[in-house]
Amino acid sequence: MSEEKSLNFIEEIIEADLASGKHTSILTRFPPEPNGYLHIGHAKSICLNFGVAKKYGGQTNLRFDDTNPVTEDTEYVDSIKKDIQWLGFQWANEFYASDYFDQLFEMALQLIDKGLAYVDDSSSEEIAEQKGTPTQPGVRNQFASRTPAENRELFLNMKAGKYPDGAKVLRVKIDMASPNMLLRDPIIYRIKHAHHHRTGNQWCVYPMYDFAHGQSDSIEKITHSLCSLEFVPHRPLYDWCIEQLGSFPSKQYEFARLNMTYTVMSKRKLLQLVNEKLVNGWDDPRMSTISGMRRRGYPASSIREFCDRIGVAKRDNLIDVGLLEFCVREELNKTAQRRMVVFDPLKVIITNYDNGVEMLSSENNPEDEQGGTRELPFSREIYIERDDFMEQPPKKYFRLAPGQMVRLKSAYIIRCEEVIKDASGQITEVHCTYIPESKSGADTSGIHVKGTLHWVSARHAIGAEVRLYDRLFKVEDVGNAEGDFKSYINPDSLTVIQQAYAEPALATDNREMAFQFLRKGYFVLDQDSSSEKLVFNRTVTLKDAWAKEMQKN
Ligand code: ATP
Ligand code: MG
Repeated sequence: MSEEKSLNFIEEIIEADLASGKHTSILTRFPPEPNGYLHIGHAKSICLNFGVAKKYGGQTNLRFDDTNPVTEDTEYVDSIKKDIQWLGFQWANEFYASDYFDQLFEMALQLIDKGLAYVDDSSSEEIAEQKGTPTQPGVRNQFASRTPAENRELFLNMKAGKYPDGAKVLRVKIDMASPNMLLRDPIIYRIKHAHHHRTGNQWCVYPMYDFAHGQSDSIEKITHSLCSLEFVPHRPLYDWCIEQLGSFPSKQYEFARLNMTYTVMSKRKLLQLVNEKLVNGWDDPRMSTISGMRRRGYPASSIREFCDRIGVAKRDNLIDVGLLEFCVREELNKTAQRRMVVFDPLKVIITNYDNGVEMLSSENNPEDEQGGTRELPFSREIYIERDDFMEQPPKKYFRLAPGQMVRLKSAYIIRCEEVIKDASGQITEVHCTYIPESKSGADTSGIHVKGTLHWVSARHAIGAEVRLYDRLFKVEDVGNAEGDFKSYINPDSLTVIQQAYAEPALATDNREMAFQFLRKGYFVLDQDSSSEKLVFNRTVTLKDAWAKEMQKN
């Protein structure tokens, strides 16, 4: 039975607009600035923008907000496109704010001709000072009284490259006494002699965000322009420009940004981590970037599910990263194939087993009826996990100990008969006997044991490197922690196991597959893997799912 989900506030607005006939179709946009890789916060915005449009039969444009030539790069453009598609969304059109530079310039001229914009020669300090404070009105300087003809000429000269950076700006004339500081004659164009990743050296004047963003929305006839809450005070300027220019009446709506525990989510900070080599690139599996999460093995569907579960709020909040991990685990439990890998081996010799090899069969995924089985070689010498054996166990220890029995997953029950040590007293081997009638699936032994261990056949095991990740930061709310955020980096966020012992199926498994290493967590092959060396990333730990799993043997 499907549950009726209540509408979020954006959906309510859209339904009302469709019902009233204000709009007959919905067009949203996702407007990244190509100055970094996308992170989980962007994923929320993508899921919302593409999600609502799709729900109401509409479309979504991808628009690169590339009005700041200094920080932008085509590497970022390519990564952004890849990430959106990987998340499962397809844009209707790929646009660039820089495609509109001519139109935007014309619109600025229109505002000049209407007496609504003027060229100001003041320095940025003077402009800031004349603006006043939230409690004190600003003052207009003498440049505000320039005539439209004069302003037009100066603005064209700005474009022609006659002045150096910062010599002049274009401002719109709104209200120097407005309680909203953003309306105190905001700047809409500045001079910047810089190379742009698309327009090259064609321009030396660039529009400011507020002007470019709203007017780009109108040019594309975006119906609902969804952005995060920090843009609430910008909305009157957004509306003012549209009204004065008579452009398409796009409307801006604001939702809460996603903040998540134990991570940072600002491109500026992520870039610092990359540049200062505190992580291994934008796609380091510890990063909150979409490329990092992909490399770590988070399925795209889990990220969509997470975005769906957190919903669309109107107030900022801090979401527990545990919820994202929960969504990842839920999905992987259904899809990941089970394999066995021993991280820290202890050799077990089964003294009553002959020298042959037996091919056992083990189910790939007990949660998936179609999951099938795989072959698992069993032989006289196997590895188990060193910490699955104790010479002097406490009570209720259900793993291997002298005289005690355990089941080897998908294989036999064994009993520990003898512990072999070297001269220093270190345990080197454990000798066991097996119960031939206890084979999994055909067990007639009548023996019940409480513990089941993962293992690999020593002769068949393949070496693998395993990378275990922990949270990148030691504090929950990194964004609000005092001082330099980098001082909160968790020094133990990466543990590398150089030589683990993996069951042989992993050598030939498809590189894209997700695995559950029994009792160890979910894993994927890392891109650093080669035919000589397998490298696995732990996507997420198991929590306590193991206990249930093992009872079924
Ligand atoms: P950052 O602060 O990480 O650099 P940004 O807002 O500058 O992010 P943009 O490329 O301008 O990054 O963002 C594109 C879109 O993604 C914007 O509409 C923005 O509101 C949205 N967005 C960015 N971060 C988040 C977040 N944490 N939660 C929700 N939406 C976000
Ligand atoms: Mg931005």
